[in-house]
Amino acid sequence: MNISVIVPLYNEAESLPELAAWITRVMTENKFTYEVIFVDDGSTDNSWQVIESLRAENPCMKGVKFRRNYGKSPALHTGFRRAQGDVVITMDADLQDSPDEIPELYRMITVEGYDLVSGWKKKRYDPLSKTIPTKLFNATARRVTGIKLHDFNCGLKAYRRDVVKNIEVYGDMHRYIPYLAKNAGFSRIGEKVVQHRARKYGKTKFGLDRFVNGYLDLMTLWFFSKFAVKPMHLFGLLGSVMFILGLLSVITVGAYKLYALSHHIAYRLVTDSPYFFIALTMMILGTLLFLGGFLGELVSRNAQGRNTYNIEKEITD
Ligand code: UDP
Ligand code: MG
Repeated sequence: MNISVIVPLYNEAESLPELAAWITRVMTENKFTYEVIFVDDGSTDNSWQVIESLRAENPCMKGVKFRRNYGKSPALHTGFRRAQGDVVITMDADLQDSPDEIPELYRMITVEGYDLVSGWKKKRYDPLSKTIPTKLFNATARRVTGIKLHDFNCGLKAYRRDVVKNIEVYGDMHRYIPYLAKNAGFSRIGEKVVQHRARKYGKTKFGLDRFVNGYLDLMTLWFFSKFAVKPMHLFGLLGSVMFILGLLSVITVGAYKLYALSHHIAYRLVTDSPYFFIALTMMILGTLLFLGGFLGELVSRNAQGRNTYNIEKEITD
């Protein structure tokens, strides 16, 4: 099969027939073999009935329905697990992304050899309250991830199948799929300017909290990319620094006290010295950080059974 199109959707019943017809037209015009996987993220409207009726007309249409609303990332993840096409394309259900981009995206993956091609909504049809924070967000993401994309969160993306089988999109991490791919070792990441259109039916499913959450997730991912496999290298280092500072403070306090005693100089209680408190805080912090490191190591050791290392090739008997 050439292409799997994955469409995460939450209450998009009005858009679906139009989207399905458009995708079908593009696929038949280009003679692609394909499947469309609609992932219904717990819709409360009649999206699922619409998907069932689309399926009745065209066996290339497939669907999964969550029992409740989990979010766009779990929806994409579920689609990725089921995708069979050589190239996997994700697309929003609200008709803001154009299926006409599919042939060129397919060509960039199969002919130009990209692992991932991300859409870039150069000209956007969204309110200002969304486009301005988005610019800031993308600038930060570029710096932290080192990936030179203009539009990280574009719903329209294409992947080599290997990529989607080797990344785990959870929580709200769909904003950073290129980064997840890079951390899994897929470094050929490209960009294509895509048509963007105003939302035709319904309204956006994300509020402004998307930006706060976006930044928090970016910090998590940065931490993961650096230390997920070796948490002790971070916690152990910080812990050691704290502990050494604490130790120096203890030595200062103790040495001064002994010196004062042996020379019969009047000396304050050790608890009057600021170094006493520094020593106390630093040593407690140091111990806690080490504890964090050990716990991190335990967790990461238990996680090794899951796909922590992305194996590209293998020879077995
Ligand atoms: N979506 C989803 N689950 C959610 C929220 C959104 O599957 O909890 C889908 C939604 O139906 C759409 C896509 O994710 O197909 C993008 O959402 P939306 O258009 O609301 O986001 P925006 O275009 O405003 O960034
Ligand atoms: Mg949209």
